[in-house]
Amino acid sequence: MTIRVTVWNEYRHEHQNEKVRAIYPEGIHTTISSFLRAAGIEARTATLDEPEHGLTDTVLANTDVLIWWGHMAHDDVRDEIVDKVQERVLDGMGLIVLHSGHHSKIFRRLMGTSGNLKWREANERERVWVIEPGHPIAEGLGEHFVIPHEEMYGERFDIPTPDALVLVSWFEGGDVFRSGCCFQRGRGRVFYFRPGHETCPTYHQPEVQRVITNAVRWAAPHTIASAPVVNVTEPLEKIGG
Ligand code: ZN
Repeated sequence: MTIRVTVWNEYRHEHQNEKVRAIYPEGIHTTISSFLRAAGIEARTATLDEPEHGLTDTVLANTDVLIWWGHMAHDDVRDEIVDKVQERVLDGMGLIVLHSGHHSKIFRRLMGTSGNLKWREANERERVWVIEPGHPIAEGLGEHFVIPHEEMYGERFDIPTPDALVLVSWFEGGDVFRSGCCFQRGRGRVFYFRPGHETCPTYHQPEVQRVITNAVRWAAPHTIASAPVVNVTEPLEKIGG
C-alpha cells in the first residue's frame, strides 16, 4: 500500500533569509517531499500561509503521515487546526516532528510538556549515535553518522520519557541530546527527529533522508483497527453467578 505523506512547512525563513533560500530554493518541504517520492512514497506539501495552513479536512483525511517543520511562526498556527491534527493523530495518523518543531503547538499538545531545551548556534559537528539498531527507524544506518555543521540542541529536553529512544546526538561542544524519540498517542505514532536547522544543508544529507524515510514507514498506520468502544457497555459474562 502506498503511504500518503503531507510535508508541512511554515515556509518563512526561506522567504526572509537569503542563506536559507540558497540551501532550500523551493523550501524545506520541497526538498523533503522530493526525496520521499524518490523512495516510492506519495508526498504532497502544505504551508502555513495557504488557506487552513494547507491542512483542510480532506488533506488530513487523506494523510497517513504528517511531517512538521516550524520555527519562527509557531504562534501563527491556528488552534482549531492544531485540534484537528491532534484528533487525526489520536485516530491513527503518524506524525514526524522535525528540529525546531519541538516548540510547535502540536508537539507540546501531544507531549503535555514544554518541549524546552538548550541550544547554541555555533555550526558545530554533531555525531548521531544509533542506540537501537534493531528498530525500523535505524534500518540501513551504521553505528553512527556525522552531520558536519549543525545547531546544537542539548539536554535537558523537556519531553516525557519516549517509548523508544533510537538516536542520541553528541555535539562538538560537549552536549548530548535525545535526537530520535518514538511516542504512541492514541492509535497514532509520533517521532521527533532533531536535526534540520534552516541555515545548514542537513536535509540534503543521505543519512538524514534515510532516517526520515524510515520514520515515515514506521509511523504509517499498520492495521485498520476499528475505533475503540467508549460508551457504557453490557457485561460479556454473567456477573456474580
Ligand atoms: Zn534551528
